[in-house]
Amino acid sequence: MTKMDIKSLTYTQLEGYLAELKQPKFRAKQIYSWLHQKLVTSFSQMTNLPKNLIAVLEENCTITAAKQIRKLESKIDCTRKYLLQFEDGELVESVLMKYNHGYSICISSEVGCKMGCTFCASTKAGFVRRLAVSEILEQVYFVQRDLGERIGHIVMMGIGEPLDNYDNVIQFLRMISDENGLNIGMRNISLSTCGIVPRIKDLQKEQMGLTLSISLHAPFDEMRSQTMPINHTYPIAELLSACREYAADTGRRISFEYALIRDFNDSEECAAQLVKLLKGMLCHVNLIPVNEIRETEYRKSEQQNIRRFEQYLNNHGITATVRRTLGADINAACGQLRREQSEEA
Ligand code: SAH
Repeated sequence: MTKMDIKSLTYTQLEGYLAELKQPKFRAKQIYSWLHQKLVTSFSQMTNLPKNLIAVLEENCTITAAKQIRKLESKIDCTRKYLLQFEDGELVESVLMKYNHGYSICISSEVGCKMGCTFCASTKAGFVRRLAVSEILEQVYFVQRDLGERIGHIVMMGIGEPLDNYDNVIQFLRMISDENGLNIGMRNISLSTCGIVPRIKDLQKEQMGLTLSISLHAPFDEMRSQTMPINHTYPIAELLSACREYAADTGRRISFEYALIRDFNDSEECAAQLVKLLKGMLCHVNLIPVNEIRETEYRKSEQQNIRRFEQYLNNHGITATVRRTLGADINAACGQLRREQSEEA
């Protein structure tokens, strides 16, 4: 019999499970706190539980914990990149970044990715599986244990497409923001998607108050479809109409990611079209000099083109900033470490 993944249970689910075991209600609070606040990795560390309950839990449940395979630390800016392994041997990457406002972690939602964006390293090693709720949580817990300090912000921008693992990601978001857990506010959480429109509509209904990031990367359908296969299914007009509704309904500003690729999407014509598309929407554009990965020909736009693009947007009423590069010396962009490791294996 496979053991139950106790760390994936919400507070209410844990209460239900303990009721089945004929345990008093307060045990749920104790166990939840051990798992999700004190971040322990074994039942024997739960020192306020009776021995016989610990024995029952050990027999029937597992506590998902990650194993560190590699850790790279940037000498430039304190960025740390972790390659973590789960029970079945699969690997994900999580990146810790330090900002003025505190620590932020970028986490993965799937092992590999099936979205096939041509510029992205995560997709190159293929898709393996979705992560369990506990495996998404454990990335935050593992790094916080290692760091010994509170992580205040989360970005779901690591490996995988979070909206392709919708139910687990939503449950993760509820648990990480639960006051019985790490209690990280939704205002401090961002989720990035390549644009799965029906799931964006579902997310809107959840009314979670997180920041939605949309990987747009091109302002014309032909250009976007060439780099992002999802655009064949949900083209730009459909995607942006869902975004407009989302922003209007939730009152939350949408963040558009736009990776600038030399001689591809960095012309003034592209900037002008982007302005046309986003005009009047509650939004912000995040310009990212494309991270050059081995398999592709894509090169970063030249510095002056990046500035020109940024200025054009700002001069035409669309707020845009160029994302600061962190961890440049440790290859901190997503997917590169996992791929290197699987090649070595
Ligand atoms: N699947 C989600 C989240 C993971 S990728 C999504 O598509 O949004 C996180 C962000 O990094 C996305 O905006 C993605 O398009 C971008 N990205 C991927 N590869 C990149 C590269 N080589 N250079 C710059 N940005 C990249």
